[in-house]
Amino acid sequence: MTMPDQESCDLVVVGSGAAGLAAAVTAAVLGLEVALVEKEPVLGGTSAWSGGWLWIPRNPLALAAGIDEDPARPRDYLRHELGNRYDARLIGMFLEQGPRMVSFFMAHSALSFIAGNTIPDFHGDNPAAALGGRSVCAAPFDGRKLGARVKDLRPPLQEISPFGMGIAAGDDIRHFLNATTSFASFRHVAMRLIRHGRDVAVHGRGMRLVNGNALVAALLKTADDLKVRILTATPVRALVREGDAVVGVKAERDGRTIEIRASRGVVLAAGGFPHDVARKAELFAHAPSGREHWSAAPEGNSGDGLRLGESAGGTVGTNLVAPGAWAPVSLAPRPDGTTGHFPHLIERAKPGLIAVRRDGRRFTNEADSYHDMMTALFAATPKGEAPEAWLICDHRFQRRYGLGHARPRPLPLGRWLASGYLKRGATIEDLAQACGIDPHGLGETLAAYNHHAADGRDPLFHRGESAYNRMQGEPGHPLNPSVAPIVKAPFYAVKIVAGSLGTFAGLVTDEHARVLGPDDKPIAGLYAVGNDMASIMGGNYPSGGITLGPAMTFGFIAAHHASGTPLPQDPDRPASTPEPTHAL
Ligand SMILES: Cc1cc2nc3c(=O)[nH]c(=O)nc-3n(C[C@H](O)[C@H](O)[C@H](O)COP(=O)(O)OP(=O)(O)OC[C@H]3O[C@@H](n4cnc5c(N)ncnc54)[C@H](O)[C@@H]3O)c2cc1C
Repeated sequence: MTMPDQESCDLVVVGSGAAGLAAAVTAAVLGLEVALVEKEPVLGGTSAWSGGWLWIPRNPLALAAGIDEDPARPRDYLRHELGNRYDARLIGMFLEQGPRMVSFFMAHSALSFIAGNTIPDFHGDNPAAALGGRSVCAAPFDGRKLGARVKDLRPPLQEISPFGMGIAAGDDIRHFLNATTSFASFRHVAMRLIRHGRDVAVHGRGMRLVNGNALVAALLKTADDLKVRILTATPVRALVREGDAVVGVKAERDGRTIEIRASRGVVLAAGGFPHDVARKAELFAHAPSGREHWSAAPEGNSGDGLRLGESAGGTVGTNLVAPGAWAPVSLAPRPDGTTGHFPHLIERAKPGLIAVRRDGRRFTNEADSYHDMMTALFAATPKGEAPEAWLICDHRFQRRYGLGHARPRPLPLGRWLASGYLKRGATIEDLAQACGIDPHGLGETLAAYNHHAADGRDPLFHRGESAYNRMQGEPGHPLNPSVAPIVKAPFYAVKIVAGSLGTFAGLVTDEHARVLGPDDKPIAGLYAVGNDMASIMGGNYPSGGITLGPAMTFGFIAAHHASGTPLPQDPDRPASTPEPTHAL
């Protein structure tokens, strides 16, 4: 396709992750002519690497299963979690429109969802926490429905996708972990591998798309059906302004500058600043040069959206508990010589693992959320030291669940041991020496941990006591799903460093996702959604799915605003009860 130097449409969306696609598809359904401009040669951003979970309390799938929460409950949960970062306008809009966003995509797109009715909130000690019913996940999607477009879809993150094959949460992952001990699981895995192999041979990639890959693929399918103009490898470099209003973008395509005019405005959805060294140096206390941080997000997310917003008078909100969605990552060497950032999301909660600093001491409940674990590591790290720790387990654990990128039985460990990624010791002292951990400290820590673990207890950090820990652990494991002694030699360790799944600091907006100028007035024609929008959670991480849920909800809201279409109302269900005046 040859692009003229000037184009025009109704709405330009910058970035093709979940936030951008939600805005583009909604706007197209509402009748706008939309251009979706993506910097990378592939579409989907971090969203295509994600678990595909959205935190949406009172969603239609929960309702259909008979979980009909009082609207005050999720709001109270957030008031308690967010404290003085709670913004009633933003949270009110999110809680009201989130369920309608889900219904909208179920009705108007190829996206369908599976229910998270047994997924608990992260913080069970919050009196308004739920044991389930507040999240949905993208349902698996058949990549063949995308036709030729599938070649533009970002493949799943290789570190967490064996042979390039996405593994879904729930039964799928359980089958993979049980493949050598259960015939049913072996058969499931064998069928998955056979189909994947056939897909790779025929299509060059797996076609049974799950998680974030399915989310992006389904939205892309609808975007194509609705004739959204999708431009890949076209980084947006500047906003076009008339007076104070934003009326389009300038982008680079095939070495030329093109201008795309947009009568209804521009939606910034460029995925925050995980790889913007200067912004990280400014906002990440643990990364003074901006380089001491290893995000699991794609390299293309380099803060362009935030800079574009600032160029039009927007401000990046920094009044946040944390500027990033922290996650422990390990640095896994790839065959091509580059280094993958493996996010430790799953195995930390399984029974028989602890994390220690170089003094050999534990510092937190390792089964808590990735964000909470990393926050605890920051707090435990003395000033001037790097926030690093080691995940420690025994042979039984490593072969059963894997440790980081070193996969479980029957996959071999040689490559990981040879590269030094995986450390091994015949004794705990040997392991400590190999890692540079104080052997005395580690010996004492393990003796104390194992003493209580034999009874399924962790009096120090209470592993396995919350519903979230238990779900992430091993259901049915005797005594405690998240606690087991670490005793069977040899012993293994992987080093974890400071990482993230995305960023929380973003452009300050109103509840319609309009970017606010210095006078707190909306900048005409400029919206920010996803991680380009300041986290409505104020930099807190109350539950899984709190980035994609708001990302898609505010993409949906921004498109309604830009098109001049009123947001949907649900006459059968009161949207919310009046905001209480007391704090929890
Ligand atoms: C392994 C992993 C699992 C995760 N699981 C979950 C989960 O289950 N639930 C959840 O809520 N969150 C999850 N997250 C976090 C979540 O994926 C991100 O917060 C979310 O995808 C951000 O969405 P976005 O649309 O804002 O940005 P992205 O999906 O990152 O999309 C931004 C896009 O903008 C493009 N772009 C950048 N600059 C420009 C430019 N100048 N011009 C044009 N395009 C540009 C980028 O190339 C990119 O494609 C996970 C993250 C990881 C890494």
